[in-house]
Amino acid sequence: MTVATKVRPIIGLEIHVQLRTRTKLFCGCEVQTDAPPNSRVCGICLGHPGTLPVMNRVALESAALAGMALGCEIARFTKWDRKSYYYPDLPKNYQISQYDIPLAAGGTFEFDVDGSPREIRIRRAHLEEDAGKNIHDTPGCTLVDLNRTGTPLLEIVTEPDLASADDTYAFCVELQRLVRHLGVSEADMQKGHMRFEPNVNVAIEHNGREYRTPIAEVKNINSFKFVRQAISYEIERQVAVWEENNDYVIGKASNENRGWDADRGVTEFQRGKEAAHDYRYFPDPDLLPVQLSDETLGSIRAQLVERPVQRRRRFASEYGLSMKDAETIVEHRPTADLFDEVIKLGGPAEIAGKQFVNVWLKHANDRGVAVTELGVEAARIAELAKMTAEGTVNKTAANQLADAMLTRSNCPSALAKELGLVQVQDADATARWVDEAFAANQQAVSDARTNPKKMQAAIGFLRGQVMKLSGGKADPKLVGKLIEERLQQP
Ligand code: ZN
Ligand code: MN
Repeated sequence: MTVATKVRPIIGLEIHVQLRTRTKLFCGCEVQTDAPPNSRVCGICLGHPGTLPVMNRVALESAALAGMALGCEIARFTKWDRKSYYYPDLPKNYQISQYDIPLAAGGTFEFDVDGSPREIRIRRAHLEEDAGKNIHDTPGCTLVDLNRTGTPLLEIVTEPDLASADDTYAFCVELQRLVRHLGVSEADMQKGHMRFEPNVNVAIEHNGREYRTPIAEVKNINSFKFVRQAISYEIERQVAVWEENNDYVIGKASNENRGWDADRGVTEFQRGKEAAHDYRYFPDPDLLPVQLSDETLGSIRAQLVERPVQRRRRFASEYGLSMKDAETIVEHRPTADLFDEVIKLGGPAEIAGKQFVNVWLKHANDRGVAVTELGVEAARIAELAKMTAEGTVNKTAANQLADAMLTRSNCPSALAKELGLVQVQDADATARWVDEAFAANQQAVSDARTNPKKMQAAIGFLRGQVMKLSGGKADPKLVGKLIEERLQQP
């Protein structure tokens, strides 16, 4: 029997996003984690005595740009702090991070879950360096690769505003879209460019009282799917533990760090959670504080682009695209830019949207490139959509025309004429094809007239025959109408 009457999950996240820079945060070493082990390191990123770190300006500006897009206030004055801990992948015994004055703070971030809007508050976002990597795949020893040491990371901390594993999943995906759209990160999950640490607990309402389970922070998850699974698991586990212990006292157990075991589909206890004082934060004496002038902030702000969530909503509301199509197009910023241009050039939104997804994106996917790399410019994409909307070509001919446009640079109207794809609006010519099709397919005609079971199929067949006779050029609407009329006649 379950005693929990009402369970409300409370979820927040810490996310580490690897920023896309050529070099590391405080030295000139290239960011190239797949290079031969320990080949992208120097005295600075290893913290050798006598070396002095120098801040990477590009990393700072990317982080500020991301902070602005998260709706945060950007600090005009910030500094670097040392976070002390010992681990083999951190040979200098401290990580350079930001403690009490984060670069960005106090934002909000919007996303959608199945078409309904959600919002999450962003507590802070700061810049810090990554550690190296311990590699455990050689039996009997652990290898350390320090290529990743000093790679710039943006650490984003949210408020615990999420209420389900699905909402969290949607938020994580939207955050990936945002940093990609801004160009501040490749956000490649496979390469560990985004690492999520959900913290989860549940509020349990029982006999008019609310109880809260201890917060579990699940460390270092690098897949959206695992984020969702780990949270679902934690919610169930915490409720079960609470029920088992009859744990009606708040704050009895302490918060803990847990790890996600993907093979077994469970989280496992790692250790109790450190408090900030365990890290002995103090300002890094080797680095100057950072001041951001109005001018610098202004020029960063100028790089801000429409956020993908707003762009999708606009594509749906202004252009009338389905949410699914809008999502597909907005997934890649240059693709979305191209689509905006198509509309600006007079492409009728509805047909342009359908063709963009069903024709152009399909061709691009078949070739493994982006639509922007197909060699078909916005003007020609717009013109094809216009010709289709106006009935100059029918849908089938439009597809053939698109094929031709991929290899030839002519405008679609010239190509349509040359290839004989212009739709025949001539009622007489169309009527002749209908007569011909009727004469050649007597059985179908009689089915269409008298056999209710076969009627629809027979009409469809006749329509196909007429289109075939026309070489695909007849107007399908006109054909349908003429067949209808002809069937009424004896
Ligand atoms: Zn270095
Ligand atoms: Mn961190």
